[in-house]
Amino acid sequence: MTKIENFSYPENFIKYLGTSGGRFSMIRQVRSTGGLWFRYGGIQGVIDPGPGSLAHICAARPELAADEADFVLLTHKHLDHSTDANVLIECMTHGGFDERGLLVAPRDALAGDDPVILKYSQKRVPRIVSPADGQPVGLGRGVTAEPVAHVHHGVECFGYIFRREGLNDWGIISDSRLMPYFAERYQSCRFLSLNATFPNAKSRLDHMSIEEARQLLTELHPQAAVLTHLGAMLTSPEGEHFLTGLDTKETHIVAAEDGMVVDLDSLAIYRERRGEPAAVRYEKE
Ligand SMILES: [Zn+2]
Repeated sequence: MTKIENFSYPENFIKYLGTSGGRFSMIRQVRSTGGLWFRYGGIQGVIDPGPGSLAHICAARPELAADEADFVLLTHKHLDHSTDANVLIECMTHGGFDERGLLVAPRDALAGDDPVILKYSQKRVPRIVSPADGQPVGLGRGVTAEPVAHVHHGVECFGYIFRREGLNDWGIISDSRLMPYFAERYQSCRFLSLNATFPNAKSRLDHMSIEEARQLLTELHPQAAVLTHLGAMLTSPEGEHFLTGLDTKETHIVAAEDGMVVDLDSLAIYRERRGEPAAVRYEKE
């Protein structure tokens, strides 16, 4: 680890606002929840703003500006992914006074019996898109997000592949059963963020495990990958040891930590030490 003096965010980056997932690590806040922030190709926004997302954005050092978000994107409507979506929309639209921003959310997050995005919030966003498998959504400035259908406990759920000419393709795999087409669809990604909730495969659950994520990464072999949404690994005493020694032959695989930053150009990974003074808060992996 190399300590970095006066860290600044790379041009294109992801920051993990929270890295826990699943109900028990969420309700105990064993680690933070709140999804991730990214800036890529000149646009920025938040994915899966679960509990605490806005607080972590406002507390981030270096600073992040919630009111400069260009989009709010939900992979699916579950609480650990969506509770702060309405307030993030309030930030993005400057309290509802400015016609700005894009909301990308599955249909069942917007309509039906139990929508998590309030109608009040939906009225404030000038552009709302519900993803369809394989049909890229323009996020602005030439950045596209290609939705990849996930299978996840009866809710509509999508991962995404982000592309912009001249930049690295990268992708997120959200909560899902491991689907055979992932190994083909995510092929062009140089970096992947994957939700891995259990150490070993559990066929009755629509969640990927660390075991399955590594198997998939062996086929995709991106340069780097981060595993996040680390539910069971955080709530059981024996879980932590599944979070080290993850590399495959061709891919550097890191278990996410709250505040971690990934440079989407160099694919360098920076760990944050939140207790440290801001000037020496980051160290290079
Ligand atoms: Zn879920």
